[in-house]
Amino acid sequence: MPASTHKILKIDGSTGEGGGQIIRTALSLSMLTGTPIEIINIRAGRAKSGLMRQHLMCVQASQQISNAVVTGAHLGSMVFTFTPSTVQAGDYTFDIGSAGSTSLVLQTLLPALLFANTGLNQKSTVTITGGTHNPLAPTTDFLQQAFVPMLDKLGMQMGIELQQVGFAPIGGGVIKATIAPFVRRATTPRLDLTEHGKLVSIELVASVLNLEYAICQRELASAKAALVEAGIDEALITTRGNKLHGIGEGNTCYAKVTHEISDMQNHKEYHSEIFTLLGEKRSSAEKIGGRLSGLVKRYLFDTGALIDEYLTDQLLLPLALSGGGAFSARIISEHSKTQAWLIEQFLPVAITFDAIEDEQILVRITC
Ligand code: AMP
Repeated sequence: MPASTHKILKIDGSTGEGGGQIIRTALSLSMLTGTPIEIINIRAGRAKSGLMRQHLMCVQASQQISNAVVTGAHLGSMVFTFTPSTVQAGDYTFDIGSAGSTSLVLQTLLPALLFANTGLNQKSTVTITGGTHNPLAPTTDFLQQAFVPMLDKLGMQMGIELQQVGFAPIGGGVIKATIAPFVRRATTPRLDLTEHGKLVSIELVASVLNLEYAICQRELASAKAALVEAGIDEALITTRGNKLHGIGEGNTCYAKVTHEISDMQNHKEYHSEIFTLLGEKRSSAEKIGGRLSGLVKRYLFDTGALIDEYLTDQLLLPLALSGGGAFSARIISEHSKTQAWLIEQFLPVAITFDAIEDEQILVRITC
C-alpha cells in the first residue's frame, strides 16, 4: 500500500521496556505495512538516551531498503519520523562503524525483506560489519543455532554466514545473510511448540579469539562437571573448543540444548535452545563455565517450557507474520510484553500470555 494513504502512527519509545527494541520493531512493522511512524522519547529512561550508532544504522539501513523519507535521525536524537516506500529485494552492505550488534540490524531488516517482491522470487543478501558477539544481544551463534532453525519451522528461509568474528570494543566482525522471499503455504501447519519429549543432547562450545586455548578447555570442563553433578546423563553432553580468526580478542561460549518435539510417522523433529555467554576480564573461565551450566539448569529444571526468555521475544514477530500459533515459554520478559504491544499496534493479531501448569506460560498468537 502506498505510504501516503496511511496516517502517521506516533509511538512513545519509552513505553514498556523502552529500549532499542521498540525502534527496531517499529521500523520493521512500518516497512511491512507501509505505515509512516514518528517515534518520540527514544530510549528516554536509559543512561545514554536517544539513538546510538547501532540504532541509527537500523534507521539508515531500513531507509535504504524501503526508499523511505526520514527526518530527525542522528546520533543522540530523541525523535524521528520514518515514511517508507516500497521495500526492494537486493544485495545490501552496511557498516555500523562500531562494535554495535550486527544481529540486531539484521533482525530489523529481515521481516521486510522476507516479504519484498515475493512475486519475483528474488533472494536478498545483507552483509553487515560490526559486532558479532555482543552483550545484551543475540550472538551470531544464537542466530544460526536457534533463530534461523525457528524461522525454518515457520517456513521462512534465511542463511547466515559468519565471515569474520567481531567482539567489543573493536568490532570488525562481518555476517552475510541470504533471505528468500516468504510464501505462506496452505499446507504448512501452524506452529505448535507447547510440549516436548526427551532431552536428546547438550552441546557445549567455547571459543577464543587471539586468547589462550586453555580458556575454552577450562570453561567446558567446569560447565560439564556442573551439569553432571546436577544429574544430567554424561553421555548426552559433548564439548568442543574453537579458535576464531579476526582482529582484537574475545571469548564466548554457548550451550545448545536439544529436545525431541515430535515423532510422527517415523519422522523425528527437534527443538534447540541456545544459551550464550561472553568472557569477562574479571571472571575466571571456571566462573563463566559455571554460569553457562546455570542457564542450562534453570531452563531444564525450573519449568517444562520449551522456549526460553530471548527466543520468546524474538519469535513473536515472525510468528505473527507466518499466521500465528502457540508455544510454551519459561518467562515473559518486559521485552516480550513490549514487543507484543507494538505488534498489535500494526497488525490485526491478538497475542496472549496465559499461565499454565508447571509454571509455564502459554504464548498464543491468533490472526
Ligand atoms: P534491546 O535491549 O531493546 O536492545 O533488545 C535486546 C535484544 O537482544 C532482545 O531481542 C533480546 O532477546 C536479545 N538478547 C539479549 N541478550 C541475549 C542473549 N544472551 N541471547 C540471545 N538474545 C539476547
